[in-house]
Amino acid sequence: MSETKTERKVSFGFEEVTESEKVARVKGVFRSVASRYDLMNDLMSAGVHRLWKHDAMNKLNPQPGERHLDVAGGTGELARAFLELADKAGKRRGIAYKATAIVCDINDAMLEAGKARADNAKWDGRLDWVCADGQSLPYPDRTFDAVTVSFGIRNFADRVAGLEEFRRVLKPGGRLGILEFSHMTAPALQAAYDTYSYNVIPLLGSLVAGDKESYQYLVESIRQFPDQETFRSEMENAGFARVSVINFSGGIAALHFGWAV
Ligand code: SAM
Repeated sequence: MSETKTERKVSFGFEEVTESEKVARVKGVFRSVASRYDLMNDLMSAGVHRLWKHDAMNKLNPQPGERHLDVAGGTGELARAFLELADKAGKRRGIAYKATAIVCDINDAMLEAGKARADNAKWDGRLDWVCADGQSLPYPDRTFDAVTVSFGIRNFADRVAGLEEFRRVLKPGGRLGILEFSHMTAPALQAAYDTYSYNVIPLLGSLVAGDKESYQYLVESIRQFPDQETFRSEMENAGFARVSVINFSGGIAALHFGWAV
Protein backbone atom coordinates (compact mmCIF):
# COMPACT_ATOMS: atom_id res chain seq x y z
CA MET A 1 0.00 0.00 0.00
CA SER A 2 1.42 3.41 -0.89
CA GLU A 3 1.96 5.89 1.93
CA THR A 4 1.20 9.59 1.49
CA LYS A 5 3.83 11.76 3.17
CA THR A 6 2.56 14.92 4.87
CA GLU A 7 4.86 17.83 4.23
CA ARG A 8 6.14 19.81 7.19
CA LYS A 9 4.63 23.29 7.59
CA VAL A 10 6.93 26.28 7.86
CA SER A 11 6.46 30.03 8.06
CA PHE A 12 6.24 32.23 5.03
CA GLY A 13 6.04 35.61 6.75
CA PHE A 14 3.05 35.29 9.09
CA GLU A 15 1.48 32.46 7.04
CA GLU A 16 1.98 28.72 7.57
CA VAL A 17 2.75 26.93 4.30
CA THR A 18 4.30 23.65 3.20
CA GLU A 19 8.06 23.59 2.59
CA SER A 20 7.63 23.27 -1.17
CA GLU A 21 5.17 26.16 -1.21
CA LYS A 22 7.67 28.31 0.69
CA VAL A 23 10.40 27.50 -1.84
CA ALA A 24 8.10 28.47 -4.72
CA ARG A 25 6.87 31.66 -3.07
CA VAL A 26 10.38 32.79 -2.04
CA LYS A 27 11.48 32.28 -5.66
CA GLY A 28 8.54 34.45 -6.74
CA VAL A 29 9.50 37.21 -4.29
CA PHE A 30 13.08 37.49 -5.51
CA ARG A 31 12.19 37.07 -9.17
CA SER A 32 9.86 40.02 -8.74
CA VAL A 33 12.33 42.33 -6.96
CA ALA A 34 15.60 41.30 -8.69
CA SER A 35 16.00 44.32 -10.97
CA ARG A 36 15.40 46.81 -8.13
CA TYR A 37 16.97 44.74 -5.36
CA ASP A 38 20.21 46.72 -4.82
CA LEU A 39 18.45 50.09 -5.06
CA MET A 40 15.76 49.02 -2.58
CA ASN A 41 18.40 47.87 -0.06
CA ASP A 42 20.06 51.27 -0.21
CA LEU A 43 16.77 53.12 0.18
CA MET A 44 15.34 50.96 2.99
CA SER A 45 18.48 51.11 5.12
CA ALA A 46 19.83 54.51 3.96
CA GLY A 47 22.92 52.59 2.82
CA VAL A 48 23.61 51.14 6.29
CA HIS A 49 23.40 47.54 5.00
CA ARG A 50 26.73 48.22 3.25
CA LEU A 51 28.38 49.02 6.60
CA TRP A 52 27.00 45.83 8.15
CA LYS A 53 28.31 43.80 5.21
CA HIS A 54 31.67 45.56 5.36
CA ASP A 55 32.08 44.77 9.07
CA ALA A 56 30.92 41.18 8.52
CA MET A 57 33.50 40.61 5.79
CA ASN A 58 36.27 42.15 7.90
CA LYS A 59 35.40 39.69 10.66
CA LEU A 60 35.60 36.86 8.11
CA ASN A 61 39.14 38.05 7.31
CA PRO A 62 39.54 36.79 3.68
CA GLN A 63 42.99 35.56 2.72
CA PRO A 64 44.80 35.08 -0.61
CA GLY A 65 44.28 31.66 -2.19
CA GLU A 66 41.09 30.92 -0.25
CA ARG A 67 37.90 29.50 -1.76
CA HIS A 68 34.76 31.38 -0.77
CA LEU A 69 31.14 30.36 -1.24
CA ASP A 70 28.44 33.01 -0.82
CA VAL A 71 25.15 31.12 -0.41
CA ALA A 72 21.93 32.96 -1.28
CA GLY A 73 24.42 35.43 -2.67
CA GLY A 74 21.94 37.30 -4.85
CA THR A 75 23.70 40.05 -6.78
CA GLY A 76 27.12 39.06 -5.43
CA GLU A 77 28.04 41.89 -3.09
CA LEU A 78 29.73 39.70 -0.46
CA ALA A 79 31.66 37.64 -2.99
CA ARG A 80 33.12 40.81 -4.51
CA ALA A 81 34.00 42.11 -1.05
CA PHE A 82 35.69 38.79 -0.25
CA LEU A 83 37.91 39.01 -3.34
CA GLU A 84 38.78 42.65 -2.69
CA LEU A 85 39.77 42.03 0.93
CA ALA A 86 41.71 38.86 0.07
CA ASP A 87 43.67 40.79 -2.59
CA LYS A 88 44.44 43.56 -0.09
CA ALA A 89 45.67 40.99 2.43
CA GLY A 90 47.80 39.38 -0.30
CA LYS A 91 49.32 42.72 -1.25
CA ARG A 92 50.18 43.54 2.36
CA ARG A 93 51.92 40.17 2.79
CA GLY A 94 53.49 40.03 -0.68
CA ILE A 95 51.50 36.91 -1.68
CA ALA A 96 50.67 36.64 -5.38
CA TYR A 97 48.14 33.80 -5.49
CA LYS A 98 44.51 34.80 -5.61
CA ALA A 99 41.27 33.91 -3.85
CA THR A 100 38.22 32.68 -5.76
CA ALA A 101 34.54 33.14 -4.99
CA ILE A 102 31.25 31.55 -6.01
CA VAL A 103 27.90 33.30 -5.76
CA CYS A 104 25.27 30.58 -5.32
CA ASP A 105 21.58 31.42 -5.40
CA ILE A 106 18.38 29.50 -6.02
CA ASN A 107 17.08 32.31 -8.20
CA ASP A 108 18.57 32.90 -11.65
CA ALA A 109 16.96 36.36 -11.88
CA MET A 110 19.03 37.55 -8.88
CA LEU A 111 22.20 36.05 -10.37
CA GLU A 112 21.51 37.70 -13.75
CA ALA A 113 21.07 41.09 -12.04
CA GLY A 114 24.46 40.58 -10.34
CA LYS A 115 26.19 39.39 -13.52
CA ALA A 116 25.00 42.50 -15.36
CA ARG A 117 27.06 44.75 -13.12
CA ALA A 118 29.92 46.45 -14.90
CA ASP A 119 32.68 45.70 -12.41
CA ASN A 120 32.63 41.92 -12.97
CA ALA A 121 35.29 42.05 -15.70
CA LYS A 122 38.00 42.91 -13.20
CA TRP A 123 37.68 39.54 -11.46
CA ASP A 124 39.01 37.68 -14.49
CA GLY A 125 37.48 34.21 -13.99
CA ARG A 126 37.79 34.32 -10.20
CA LEU A 127 34.10 35.03 -9.62
CA ASP A 128 31.62 32.31 -10.56
CA TRP A 129 27.79 32.27 -10.53
CA VAL A 130 25.87 29.09 -9.77
CA CYS A 131 22.12 28.54 -9.57
CA ALA A 132 21.53 26.03 -6.74
CA ASP A 133 19.64 25.45 -3.51
CA GLY A 134 21.68 26.28 -0.40
CA GLN A 135 20.10 23.28 1.33
CA SER A 136 21.62 20.89 -1.19
CA LEU A 137 24.88 22.28 -2.51
CA PRO A 138 26.52 20.81 -5.65
CA TYR A 139 29.99 20.58 -4.04
CA PRO A 140 32.01 17.79 -2.42
CA ASP A 141 32.70 17.73 1.32
CA ARG A 142 35.45 20.06 2.61
CA THR A 143 35.67 22.29 -0.45
CA PHE A 144 35.62 25.84 0.96
CA ASP A 145 37.62 27.93 3.42
CA ALA A 146 34.75 30.33 4.05
CA VAL A 147 30.99 30.30 3.56
CA THR A 148 28.80 33.35 3.98
CA VAL A 149 25.06 33.98 3.86
CA SER A 150 23.69 37.49 4.09
CA PHE A 151 19.97 38.10 4.49
CA GLY A 152 19.35 34.71 2.90
CA ILE A 153 18.90 31.99 5.52
CA ARG A 154 15.64 33.52 6.78
CA ASN A 155 14.17 32.46 3.45
CA PHE A 156 15.21 28.79 3.65
CA ALA A 157 12.44 26.23 3.99
CA ASP A 158 14.70 24.13 6.26
CA ARG A 159 17.30 26.28 8.02
CA VAL A 160 18.88 23.37 9.91
CA ALA A 161 19.42 21.44 6.66
CA GLY A 162 21.13 24.55 5.32
CA LEU A 163 23.47 24.87 8.31
CA GLU A 164 24.43 21.19 8.08
CA GLU A 165 25.13 21.61 4.39
CA PHE A 166 27.41 24.62 5.04
CA ARG A 167 29.38 22.57 7.56
CA ARG A 168 29.66 19.69 5.09
CA VAL A 169 31.20 21.82 2.31
CA LEU A 170 33.53 23.72 4.67
CA LYS A 171 37.02 22.41 5.37
CA PRO A 172 37.62 21.65 9.05
CA GLY A 173 38.58 25.01 10.54
CA GLY A 174 36.67 26.86 7.82
CA ARG A 175 34.62 29.93 8.78
CA LEU A 176 30.90 30.51 8.50
CA GLY A 177 29.53 34.05 8.66
CA ILE A 178 25.76 34.54 8.66
CA LEU A 179 24.45 38.09 8.52
CA GLU A 180 20.71 38.30 9.06
CA PHE A 181 18.02 40.59 10.38
CA SER A 182 17.65 39.86 14.06
CA HIS A 183 15.99 41.05 17.24
CA MET A 184 16.36 44.53 18.74
CA THR A 185 18.55 44.67 21.82
CA ALA A 186 17.39 48.22 22.64
CA PRO A 187 13.71 47.93 23.70
CA ALA A 188 13.32 51.74 23.61
CA LEU A 189 13.77 51.66 19.83
CA GLN A 190 11.38 48.77 19.16
CA ALA A 191 8.25 50.89 18.64
CA ALA A 192 10.00 53.24 16.20
CA TYR A 193 11.48 50.27 14.33
CA ASP A 194 8.09 48.55 14.09
CA THR A 195 6.40 51.71 12.83
CA TYR A 196 9.08 52.16 10.19
CA SER A 197 9.20 48.56 9.03
CA TYR A 198 5.46 47.87 8.93
CA ASN A 199 4.57 51.15 7.25
CA VAL A 200 7.49 52.58 5.29
CA ILE A 201 9.12 49.43 3.86
CA PRO A 202 6.01 48.01 2.09
CA LEU A 203 5.24 51.52 0.82
CA LEU A 204 8.77 51.89 -0.60
CA GLY A 205 8.41 48.43 -2.15
CA SER A 206 5.23 49.52 -3.84
CA LEU A 207 6.63 52.83 -5.11
CA VAL A 208 10.13 51.72 -6.17
CA ALA A 209 9.81 48.04 -7.05
CA GLY A 210 6.10 48.02 -7.85
CA ASP A 211 5.67 45.18 -5.36
CA LYS A 212 4.23 45.82 -1.91
CA GLU A 213 3.62 42.13 -1.04
CA SER A 214 7.27 41.09 -1.37
CA TYR A 215 8.35 43.80 1.05
CA GLN A 216 5.50 42.92 3.41
CA TYR A 217 6.94 39.37 3.35
CA LEU A 218 10.37 40.81 4.18
CA VAL A 219 9.05 42.59 7.27
CA GLU A 220 7.07 39.56 8.46
CA SER A 221 9.86 37.05 7.80
CA ILE A 222 12.21 39.12 9.99
CA ARG A 223 9.81 38.64 12.93
CA GLN A 224 9.74 34.87 12.36
CA PHE A 225 13.52 34.48 12.48
CA PRO A 226 14.89 33.20 15.82
CA ASP A 227 16.62 35.55 18.25
CA GLN A 228 20.39 35.75 18.54
CA GLU A 229 20.83 33.08 21.24
CA THR A 230 18.47 30.58 19.60
CA PHE A 231 20.22 30.90 16.26
CA ARG A 232 23.61 30.60 17.97
CA SER A 233 22.42 27.23 19.39
CA GLU A 234 21.24 26.10 15.95
CA MET A 235 24.72 26.80 14.57
CA GLU A 236 26.37 24.94 17.44
CA ASN A 237 24.04 21.96 16.97
CA ALA A 238 24.97 21.88 13.29
CA GLY A 239 28.67 21.46 14.16
CA PHE A 240 30.07 24.98 14.50
CA ALA A 241 32.38 25.89 17.36
CA ARG A 242 33.16 29.15 19.14
CA VAL A 243 30.05 30.80 17.69
CA SER A 244 30.07 34.53 18.37
CA VAL A 245 27.38 37.12 17.77
CA ILE A 246 27.90 40.75 16.77
CA ASN A 247 24.82 42.97 16.83
CA PHE A 248 24.56 45.80 14.35
CA SER A 249 22.39 48.91 14.81
CA GLY A 250 20.93 47.74 18.13
CA GLY A 251 20.18 44.23 16.87
CA ILE A 252 18.36 45.19 13.66
CA ALA A 253 20.90 42.86 12.10
CA ALA A 254 23.38 40.42 13.61
CA LEU A 255 26.42 38.52 12.42
CA HIS A 256 26.77 34.94 13.67
CA PHE A 257 30.30 33.73 13.14
CA GLY A 258 31.58 30.20 13.78
CA TRP A 259 34.21 27.62 12.90
CA ALA A 260 33.52 24.28 11.23
CA VAL A 261 34.75 21.33 13.27
N1 SAM B 1 22.96 37.88 -0.10
C1 SAM B 1 22.39 38.94 -0.90
C2 SAM B 1 22.48 40.25 -0.18
O1 SAM B 1 22.82 40.27 1.00
O2 SAM B 1 22.22 41.27 -0.78
C3 SAM B 1 20.96 38.63 -1.31
C4 SAM B 1 19.98 38.50 -0.17
S1 SAM B 1 18.29 38.35 -0.68
C5 SAM B 1 17.46 39.15 0.62
C6 SAM B 1 17.93 36.68 -0.35
C7 SAM B 1 18.43 35.73 -1.40
O3 SAM B 1 18.29 34.39 -0.92
C8 SAM B 1 17.65 35.80 -2.72
O4 SAM B 1 18.53 36.08 -3.77
C9 SAM B 1 17.03 34.41 -2.84
O5 SAM B 1 16.88 33.97 -4.16
C10 SAM B 1 18.02 33.58 -2.05
N2 SAM B 1 17.52 32.29 -1.55
C11 SAM B 1 16.38 32.04 -0.88
N3 SAM B 1 16.28 30.74 -0.57
C12 SAM B 1 17.40 30.14 -1.05
C13 SAM B 1 17.88 28.80 -1.04
N4 SAM B 1 17.20 27.81 -0.48
N5 SAM B 1 19.08 28.56 -1.62
C14 SAM B 1 19.79 29.54 -2.22
N6 SAM B 1 19.37 30.83 -2.28
C15 SAM B 1 18.20 31.12 -1.69
